[in-house]
Amino acid sequence: MSVLVFAEAINNKYKKSSLEVVNYGAKLASSQGSNVIVLTNASADAAAELGKYGAQKVLNFESDSLHDNKMLSQIISDVANSHNADTVILSDNSKGKSLAGRIAIKLDAAAVSSATTLPNLEDGFVVQKSLFSGKAIGHYQMKASKKVITVAGNSIGLEEMGQPVAAEAFDASAYNATVEMVETKRVEGTVPLPEAELVVSAGRGMKGPENWGIIEDLAKTLGATTACSRPVADTGWRPHHEHVGQTGIAIKPNLYIAIGISGAIQHLAGVNHSKTIVVINKDPEAPFFKAADYGIVADLFDVVPRLTEALQKFKAS
Ligand SMILES: Cc1cc2nc3c(=O)[nH]c(=O)nc-3n(C[C@H](O)[C@H](O)[C@H](O)COP(=O)(O)OP(=O)(O)OC[C@H]3O[C@@H](n4cnc5c(N)ncnc54)[C@H](O)[C@@H]3O)c2cc1C
Repeated sequence: MSVLVFAEAINNKYKKSSLEVVNYGAKLASSQGSNVIVLTNASADAAAELGKYGAQKVLNFESDSLHDNKMLSQIISDVANSHNADTVILSDNSKGKSLAGRIAIKLDAAAVSSATTLPNLEDGFVVQKSLFSGKAIGHYQMKASKKVITVAGNSIGLEEMGQPVAAEAFDASAYNATVEMVETKRVEGTVPLPEAELVVSAGRGMKGPENWGIIEDLAKTLGATTACSRPVADTGWRPHHEHVGQTGIAIKPNLYIAIGISGAIQHLAGVNHSKTIVVINKDPEAPFFKAADYGIVADLFDVVPRLTEALQKFKAS
């Protein structure tokens, strides 16, 4: 019995969510008295680093066809079978969710996506996940002998818990892709919203897209990712991938700064798990203040540039 983790690398680098699943797999294996194997698409040098996050055995392969989830799910399922893995752990991103379903069918396994806790083994392998925009917590008992879990980002923290291990090459040459990637355009430079620990978000109070410079300046000063409310994305002021809330991305950063956002329930549904919420709004009755840890009642066009300036001075000192 063992736990198999798939840790996705991009250009031989791991995002936090990939390291978190290695941690998750290592902790699960430790509580079960089993071992954790990590399969990864990276060079042997990059893959060896996964040992620091708890990987006991690392299998690495390099492939140009990682976009093909049909092929990748076959590779992961075959490795699970050949290494006697009864639990497969994946990141909770679009790739992980797509793979999870395919792998569950191939292994005849139970599958739970977006798990926020390690399995409780005392109650018969129960994992929790957030439901109804964070208003409820579901407890899922996974009864099948094989299990597939995708782990929600920022759920269990990230810690170094081991030493680098020499990766073993996995031969993936026999697997053929069924689709070809013609072109990719990657957004560079910022941490993707689901993984961001610091988020600066703005709403209709900004009056128009031409004013977003002050938000970007604040985000850049803090090293934060930018987000927005739904109407802002709907009207094309900001790209749709920045929209957070019930119908957008659900996030739980350490710090969420909401600027010129009223705090409608549909917006709060996606951000109310943030550890610290700071609200800047000129209306003292804005509902967001009820969910805020810190609130500034002020005109954002006055306070945001001053906040950025103060932070820059603080960093310089
Ligand atoms: C089914 C459904 C799903 C939805 N899903 C989402 C979702 O996922 N995410 C989401 O965000 N919304 C969602 N909405 C929309 C939501 O109900 C709100 O309409 C929306 O969140 C409001 O956006 P806003 O706060 O940017 O704008 P507004 O409600 O217009 O608020 C603007 C705020 O800016 C403040 N302000 C204005 N000028 C200044 C200034 N100069 N300085 C400081 N403050 C200022 C105002 O006081 C006000 O509080 C959904 C709605 C429905 C019906």
